[in-house]
Amino acid sequence: MPKHFIANEFVAGDSGQTLPVIDPADGQPYDQIQRGNARDVDTAVAAARACLQGPWQRLTAAERGRLLMALSRKLAEHAEELAAIEQRDCGKPTRQARADAAALVRYFEYYAGACDKLHGQTLPFLEGFSVLTWREPHGVTGHVIPWNYPMQIFGRSVGGALAAGNACVVKPSEDACLSLLRVAELAAEVGFPAGAINIVTGYGHEVGDALARHPGIDHISFTGSPRVGTLIQQVAAERHCPVTLELGGKGPQLVFEDADLDAALPTLVQAIVQNAGQTCSAGSRLLVQRPVYERLLERLGAAFRELRAGPPALDTDLGPLIRVSQLDRVGSFLAQAARDGIPTVAQGQVAAEAHPGGYYQAPVLLRDVPPEHRIAQEEVFGPVLAAMPFDDEDHAIALANGTDFGLVAAVWSRDGGRQLRMARRLRAGQVFVNSYGAGGGIELPFGGVKSSGHGREKGFEALYGFTVLKTVTLRHG
Ligand code: NAD
Repeated sequence: MPKHFIANEFVAGDSGQTLPVIDPADGQPYDQIQRGNARDVDTAVAAARACLQGPWQRLTAAERGRLLMALSRKLAEHAEELAAIEQRDCGKPTRQARADAAALVRYFEYYAGACDKLHGQTLPFLEGFSVLTWREPHGVTGHVIPWNYPMQIFGRSVGGALAAGNACVVKPSEDACLSLLRVAELAAEVGFPAGAINIVTGYGHEVGDALARHPGIDHISFTGSPRVGTLIQQVAAERHCPVTLELGGKGPQLVFEDADLDAALPTLVQAIVQNAGQTCSAGSRLLVQRPVYERLLERLGAAFRELRAGPPALDTDLGPLIRVSQLDRVGSFLAQAARDGIPTVAQGQVAAEAHPGGYYQAPVLLRDVPPEHRIAQEEVFGPVLAAMPFDDEDHAIALANGTDFGLVAAVWSRDGGRQLRMARRLRAGQVFVNSYGAGGGIELPFGGVKSSGHGREKGFEALYGFTVLKTVTLRHG
């Protein structure tokens, strides 16, 4: 049975209680994790602090980089194993699970190379003075991680924090933590000192809350829902602890009449079907200029009818949703859309091989969705694409920016001027032109505006968020 990972050892939790691990593909429990509590968080924070003040602080940036690179290589050797763990835990099709393991490897590779390139500046100042800035780690960083991409989000968040010299305490989702426990074990094997990476499993309102409140946590990186992001920020504000919030999205894809529809079509489908639509950056709103609206919907409808949700090992277009409450949530959105007369263009299928106890949802394409409807405003977090027409650029921008979210958006057009005009006017942390989510984005700063959060992860930019700047002023005459 998996235990917490603290100071390079698997340890049983203080409560003596466990939580079941459910396989989303059949709804059956197949393992148990520790139900952590505040005392476990105390132990993990103390281990991280001791590491920070001891061996971790003594490493040079180059040595830290070598450790991160060693971990990247180790993770690459174990990529198939890690993908298999995550596949069962989260119900991911094989290609997706492998892609997630590959991204984890790549995050550690990227941040390994960044360790000794993170530096301060010297500043011009008064005669007889020299001023320098140092980028120092926050200290012990807390990382609260959701269930949809555990390995990827661990890679970007913990990878960046370690590269900047922090020691980490991680709280994975109670629905998906097995791969991360194995990653932490592999980190110990390649020589990470005890306490550099600690993992405490359990519920959010218990472990996550204790982590956010803990006076020994110097920075919190939270990835999850806007609701919990608000709670974390409120709790952290009590002691002025800085937070990075990576929250939800309602990604608009703006397809103009001059777009290359052949090129757009597979990306539009993939952007909502990937990970069964359980992606913060999912392209869940399709905004199409009227002259091509019917043509595009017809073609998309045909594509949707071919999509299959199926057992993860069959590697169909999408796997099951993470848990039964998520399936119910998606179902309630669809039921409301039906009650409100929103037309369905097409629906995919659930494969005959799917276990009846699994949490499968066939992809659905809806049209003429009123912009103010909850299915156009809220995160469904399932494979549901809401299409609506627009007339011109102003109308497209009003619709695209007309939600509480602002994470990722896309513009599909052959007109260079329009591409840049739209990119400027879209309120989003990332804008893609004639693509969506290209390359996994390891190198690309990522994060939101409005209710999609604040702060940036991924890319070099993340390292600024995982450090605090100190200004040193020397008077030397
Ligand atoms: P969630 O907010 O329910 O949970 C996220 C994490 O917070 C989990 O580890 C959970 O245990 C913990 N948590 C829950 N209550 C807590 C509390 N009171 N205090 C502290 N921690 C608590 O989100 P989820 O359902 O796991 O994930 C889906 C959400 O995550 C979606 O909204 C999605 O858009 C968002 N997400 C955002 C990004 C991004 O980069 N912007 C990436 C992935 C997912």
